[in-house]
Amino acid sequence: MYDVIIIGGGAAGLMAAGFAAKEGAKVLVAEKMVTCGRKLLISGSGRCNITNTMKDTKQFVAKFGKNGRFLYQAINSFTTSDVVSFFNSKGLKTAVEKGFKVFPAGEAGSADVLRVLMGFCVSGGVEFISSSPVANVNTEGGQVVSVTAGGRDIRCRAAVIACGGKSYPATGSSGDGYTLASALGHTIVEPRPVLVPAYTDSEWIKDLQGVSLRDIRLILVSDGKNVASADGDLVFTDKGVSGPAVYDITGHEFDRNADNRLLIDLLPLKTQAELDSELEQSMRTNNKKILKNIIDECVMSSLVPAVFTVSGIDPMLKASNLSKKDRNKLVSAMKGLELSGVQFAGFERAVVTAGGVSLKEIDGRSMSSTIIDGLFFAGEVMDLDAPTGGYNLQMCWSTGRFAGISCAEYAKKKI
Ligand SMILES: Cc1cc2nc3c(=O)[nH]c(=O)nc-3n(C[C@H](O)[C@H](O)[C@H](O)COP(=O)(O)OP(=O)(O)OC[C@H]3O[C@@H](n4cnc5c(N)ncnc54)[C@H](O)[C@@H]3O)c2cc1C
Repeated sequence: MYDVIIIGGGAAGLMAAGFAAKEGAKVLVAEKMVTCGRKLLISGSGRCNITNTMKDTKQFVAKFGKNGRFLYQAINSFTTSDVVSFFNSKGLKTAVEKGFKVFPAGEAGSADVLRVLMGFCVSGGVEFISSSPVANVNTEGGQVVSVTAGGRDIRCRAAVIACGGKSYPATGSSGDGYTLASALGHTIVEPRPVLVPAYTDSEWIKDLQGVSLRDIRLILVSDGKNVASADGDLVFTDKGVSGPAVYDITGHEFDRNADNRLLIDLLPLKTQAELDSELEQSMRTNNKKILKNIIDECVMSSLVPAVFTVSGIDPMLKASNLSKKDRNKLVSAMKGLELSGVQFAGFERAVVTAGGVSLKEIDGRSMSSTIIDGLFFAGEVMDLDAPTGGYNLQMCWSTGRFAGISCAEYAKKKI
């Protein structure tokens, strides 16, 4: 008989397990895969952006859209600073990047984050069973009594569903949490893949695979209308673009089947008019130079051919021969390098799943189910998602800790 069974050993589940054990509960983590924390290991490309420096809870929860209010208590009781202190106190140093994102410092990364969490659990006496997918949470009289894991029933007073969403299913999160929760009467808000890479039919990206752009602005044009923009970094892939700016634009709601185009503003800090006047000046002072060499001073060298392909201007033209109309075309290309025929990836490449267990049936003060006694939720399995920047993991830490403490208290009362 366990006080608590945590279903899923990801970021949220491990945090829940450690805190439940700290409260004195006898805890078992049932993990489907051979090892825990597979998604955590690939987070931030192995570097793991564990949180950020946002101090204001109101501002933080607003990043989760209208559902953010649900998180208020959880985030307030385990803030971004608390998360940093938690990892620091367990020997993991952290560093702030771009004045905002918090990562493990130096050479440390996701594996070290996982090591800290596993250490936290093991030192608290948490037990683990791996390769043991949970197929059922069993109840009697509306109360959790056992969990069927790896084909056997294991008795418990409380259970936490922390199975994640259904993105990157190879990591173990393939939507089981929704099946478990809906079998217990919970409503599932249709899951959608968000924070995904984009594919394009634009040929000009072909030679750019692996090239990264920093601090660009990406604009999404859907059926001819500008519907969203995102600032940040971007990387060219074999078939399109990926990286934080691309991910964040896909967090917006828009018709994925529309005629979607992406415009890359290579110089977001300059207006069209400012860039045009700078270029005009440069053409005048360098009127004997060919255009290619002038544009090379404005944007990254590897992007110069793309600017000419997209604008349709001859790179070998002498600056003195450039008409105002063609100068405008060059400016437009630098302020909006167009990717056409854009398609977005699905769950297999989504950083996060939007939708999930409806928050209407979860108590935000304890992460407990309002339908089943002794049932709790933590992490991405719930209908919560935010842009990149450490928000999603912070949500997992805060809801995981909250669920862990609450289920331990609940189990204590049931003894
Ligand atoms: C490529 C990538 C990069 C990312 N980078 C960042 C980042 O830098 N910062 C950030 O904030 N967020 C990032 N995220 C998002 C973040 O990783 C997730 O939001 C977070 O890991 C979700 O944690 P979770 O514990 O809710 O679920 P998961 O980490 O998905 O864990 C769920 C666990 O449950 C297990 N499980 C599933 N079904 C069952 C079952 N039936 N029985 C038993 N166990 C089960 C799974 O095997 C898994 O171990 C990234 C995501 C991806 C895919």
